[in-house]
Amino acid sequence: MSNNIKIQFLGGSNEVGSLSMVLETADGIRILFDYGMSPGKPPTYPLPPPPVDLVLLTHAHLDHSGMIPWLCSRRDHTIFATDLTNKISNLLFRDSLKIAKMDGYAIPYTRSDIDDAEHSFVEVTTSQNKNINSYEIHFHSAGHIPGSLMFEIIGEQKILFTGDINAIDTRLLHGVKPVQCDILFLEGTYSGREHPDRRELEKRFLDKIDEVVSRGGIAVIPAFAVARIQELALILQNSGYNIWFDGMGKKVAKIFLKYPKYLRSPENLKKAINNVNFVHSDHNRKMALKSEVILTSSGMLDGGPILWYMNKLKNDPKSAVLLTGYQVEGTNGRLLLDKSKIDFYGVIENVECEVGYFDFSAHAGHSELVKFAKACRPEKIVLFHSDNRTPLAESLKDFADIYTPNNGETVKL
Ligand SMILES: [Zn+2]
Ligand SMILES: [Zn+2]
Repeated sequence: MSNNIKIQFLGGSNEVGSLSMVLETADGIRILFDYGMSPGKPPTYPLPPPPVDLVLLTHAHLDHSGMIPWLCSRRDHTIFATDLTNKISNLLFRDSLKIAKMDGYAIPYTRSDIDDAEHSFVEVTTSQNKNINSYEIHFHSAGHIPGSLMFEIIGEQKILFTGDINAIDTRLLHGVKPVQCDILFLEGTYSGREHPDRRELEKRFLDKIDEVVSRGGIAVIPAFAVARIQELALILQNSGYNIWFDGMGKKVAKIFLKYPKYLRSPENLKKAINNVNFVHSDHNRKMALKSEVILTSSGMLDGGPILWYMNKLKNDPKSAVLLTGYQVEGTNGRLLLDKSKIDFYGVIENVECEVGYFDFSAHAGHSELVKFAKACRPEKIVLFHSDNRTPLAESLKDFADIYTPNNGETVKL
């Protein structure tokens, strides 16, 4: 790739949401990386893209994939992603339409646009390269959620686009491996922030559940339906508790098991899933209220069965609600963490349960991002997907040229 590729972030350069970037090679090939939305009521979107030759989708999370159906409603596209990303993003698109309808706001695509999107996907794998003109594209596991990819584009220069990455081995996945490149596009969600040691975190989590169950309470665990809730089922695999599993995570777990090549241990996930009781009915929900552990969505308590359980348990000081991921400002989860209150469809009520927070992130922490970037040995690093890129830029500035473009800004590299 000759020395002047042009890039422009259409969204998500300086925020964790609405991610999209367009890259134009010296000979005019345009590639679009991800096309997401920022979930909200209503969601927000990236800028419209120019016509592109190819779309590369890193993974199914809506902040990366959410506007793909809209993209496909405007013109025909070829989208490179794993078959699992296609499957999971399809489920999330349908769910987004359902939620929008329930909450009374519009989303700019229809069921038939979702079908068009589904048929625009071309399956790619880490074992087989693809070509576009004279460029070769390699696919690498990102260690973030099952099916997630990093894209390596090889011309005169080597480019690596990370999407979201996790560097540590979790129960569900192996961590990301560095790839040598000249220009690195690096996500910075945890710029300036570190994670606790994973094994210690798991121990603290299990100890807390033990404490809650021993005093006669229920541990209610809200978790994201894609990857987080399955990871927690794996952590609880040998705990011996009576566990109930509710929400969209059930369907996602079954899909994961159909794509075993993306899992660290499909056998373990199968065992973990066999170990929980699936909630299929209102009667099951009542049974769950007599159990010890409830795993359910949504992760930030902004909908899903968690609100039904919390409404029943909110006055029980023996029970605990254990948050398992970052709680965004303005969400019910943030309200619960800061003020021990939950908004039940417009009525804000106090919660007397214990509230706990456990950082089971699927993103690399600051030091892990720095270590990964150095191991890729790039000359240039473009930082994105972060509301605070400064700490990461500081840590890497003596090592490579750092770029922190704003949304809409065209940069030559
Ligand atoms: Zn993600
Ligand atoms: Zn993301």
